[in-house]
Amino acid sequence: MKILVINCGSSSVKYQLIDTETEIALAKGIVSRIGMSASVLTHKPFDRPEVTISGEILDHIVAVEYVVTILMSENHGVIKDRSEIEAIGHRVVHGGEEFSESALVTPDLMSSLRSLIELAPLHNPHNIRGINACMKTLPGLPMVAVFDTAFHHEMPPHAYIYGIPYVMYRRYGIRRYGFHGTSHKYVADRAALMLGKPIEDLKLITCHLGNGASITAIDGGVSIDTSMGFTPLEGLLMGTRCGDQDPAIILHIMAREELSLHEANTLLNKHSGLAGISGVSSDMREIIESVEEGHATAKIAFDIYCYRLRKYIAAYTAALGGLDALIFTAGVGENSALVREASVQGLGFMGVEIDAEKNRKAVGKEMDISTGSAKVKTLVIPTNEELVIARDTERIVKESQAKK
Ligand code: ADP
Repeated sequence: MKILVINCGSSSVKYQLIDTETEIALAKGIVSRIGMSASVLTHKPFDRPEVTISGEILDHIVAVEYVVTILMSENHGVIKDRSEIEAIGHRVVHGGEEFSESALVTPDLMSSLRSLIELAPLHNPHNIRGINACMKTLPGLPMVAVFDTAFHHEMPPHAYIYGIPYVMYRRYGIRRYGFHGTSHKYVADRAALMLGKPIEDLKLITCHLGNGASITAIDGGVSIDTSMGFTPLEGLLMGTRCGDQDPAIILHIMAREELSLHEANTLLNKHSGLAGISGVSSDMREIIESVEEGHATAKIAFDIYCYRLRKYIAAYTAALGGLDALIFTAGVGENSALVREASVQGLGFMGVEIDAEKNRKAVGKEMDISTGSAKVKTLVIPTNEELVIARDTERIVKESQAKK
């Protein structure tokens, strides 16, 4: 099946056209700066060079129309007609407590998504916009919503309830939901294959270290705890998000600086993390360059990033009651030997030991980087969220067609 995978942000649409038989992405790209000046479409067919096209892309409907047009174009296209696209899979950030797995897009699902906006005001409205844009541009195609939260659905209450009045959970759904679920699940399944063992027999910790970062404890294939919480703000230090901190801090800053709710939200989500501490950048590559040049606050930011990871790895090993493999993925996890080395330092007592040479060689490819004698395997596994979305979309569309 040829499946268009869509990931919609506030001003961007990322896409891949995936052939599920070969599991090859026939083309991938991104429309950015939607609704702003100088909107641009960057498109890469799997067998030809990348192209960039600028245009006036006023909204997500026009963006999806651009995507479909370039997918069919004579020079840069990979299909002849839009009818070759058989289904669309959408990344949806928040599925709340309702969605424990991916689901077919129906009028009922759309109304559930609208009611979830309250829980994910920064993300779900854009995902809904993407679904609506596809309904207009490619009418009649089956669509599937794949949720970032679904994989964490089976966490036990002791992992998801916060230490505030229980009535807040009942009244407003305030609990840990967890995110990046598609990625954590994908790399956990790959790890089981690499280790040649059924996932049911494995205790795994997966570290998804991208611009956003989260870590998950997985017991027998089930997420039992994860560091992102009610929102993606909690847990590890991230590019621009603060991660864990004393909740009283923001109340104090709001009072002292007379910040509005919106400003406080921006401070925690956009001006904190690596960027906020270092004053240099949210990008780990630039942080590392600055550390090498002797930049003091970049060094503090780098150290906090790795120290917090190390604490979580040890805490989740305790939560799991043991550990078979530790997995690094996403931009930082797949590419930075330095972050991997620093974040497992001192964990030899738990059986985590990495081989410096293998670690250095593991850049963007699947590799076991543990020493021969390590009790716990440390693996680098590139994530592929789009492939999981395409696989789920195919399965659910076929199931729904079989029922008819
Ligand atoms: P997103 O969460 O936006 O999908 P990615 O998974 O692409 O992000 O990760 C982006 C992060 O990966 C950035 O901080 C970037 O600096 C980091 N990164 C990419 N390559 C390297 C590298 N070679 N060394 C260190 N960090 C890297």
